[in-house]
Amino acid sequence: MFFKLNNISKHYGSESEGNLRKVLDGLSLEIKEGESIAILGPSGSGKTTLLNIMGTLDRPDSGEVYFRNDTVYSGKNNIDTHALNPSNQPQPGIISTDQIAASKRDPDQNHAVSKSIFPADVKSELRSVTKHDADSAHSSQKVAQPDAESLFAPEDNLVNFSTQELDTFRNEKIGFVFQMHHLLPQCTLFENILIPTLTIRDKRIRAERLERARELMIRVGIWEQRDQMPGHVSGGESQRAAVVRALINKPALLLADEPTGALDEDNVSKLALLLLEINKTDGVTLVVVTHSVALATRMDTVYELKNGKLRIKDLKA
Ligand code: ADP
Ligand code: MG
Repeated sequence: MFFKLNNISKHYGSESEGNLRKVLDGLSLEIKEGESIAILGPSGSGKTTLLNIMGTLDRPDSGEVYFRNDTVYSGKNNIDTHALNPSNQPQPGIISTDQIAASKRDPDQNHAVSKSIFPADVKSELRSVTKHDADSAHSSQKVAQPDAESLFAPEDNLVNFSTQELDTFRNEKIGFVFQMHHLLPQCTLFENILIPTLTIRDKRIRAERLERARELMIRVGIWEQRDQMPGHVSGGESQRAAVVRALINKPALLLADEPTGALDEDNVSKLALLLLEINKTDGVTLVVVTHSVALATRMDTVYELKNGKLRIKDLKA
């Protein structure tokens, strides 16, 4: 077992104000390492709320969220993720969601963000990696350990983590893809993809991430567009860049919230294939909220969120 939600409840509003909205109501879910899951459900049924709780962006009112990651990476890109932040201290230079939100509001500030988050040494590393021969790209593969039916310990319960511990956890373990790509408009695709790596102090790991960015961009077919701003590439290309950004720090779990919602049919199937390929070949556990039955049917397990709970849905029935 890898991820377990136990008896999760979440509400908005309050009874006294007459606007109580029970969104999740005793919801439970178990996910195996490497599994792919689709979550269906009408608008307003709580899918985003659920994904935010899984991704530790939000806390449940009650219930437990257990996470245990026994995955090891093999191959040339093998790294120790704890080397990123061994002391669990907040890292200087981390991009907060506030900063990103502010940058979306103020185009001038975007420019400032773009400049300040890429110091000169990162810029020069960026240039050097773009000079590499594409043929030298190597692949990193994740190998799942045998599925040990391990019980979770209280220290595996994310609900007990401090905000600071959750920030570190999220940065290392979770990748997010949203309906709209949420790329910074004043940064190039390549810069956008490297944003989650800016807190990495270890030069060796940073160089490895740059190489990974290049490999993944080649793999999803956006390397030629690396110096373009998001506004100058197609929606499909932007969304593929968002997927690469979500994968750059080798997350164990990829959470995608209606990732194909803003794409045309051709790009829907391209992105669906990409997500599946990442799940199967890289072993990243995948949870996709989608309205696309075509996408859902390709996942190992399909759930429907209804009345605050998940039930398995048989799409062939
Ligand atoms: P879905 O993603 O399935 O469309 P959401 O999780 O976004 O559903 O929302 C579930 C319900 O909770 C909706 O009725 C929504 O209006 C409400 N809701 C979501 N977020 C908030 C919030 N921050 N404050 C109040 N109500 C919210
Ligand atoms: Mg939603």
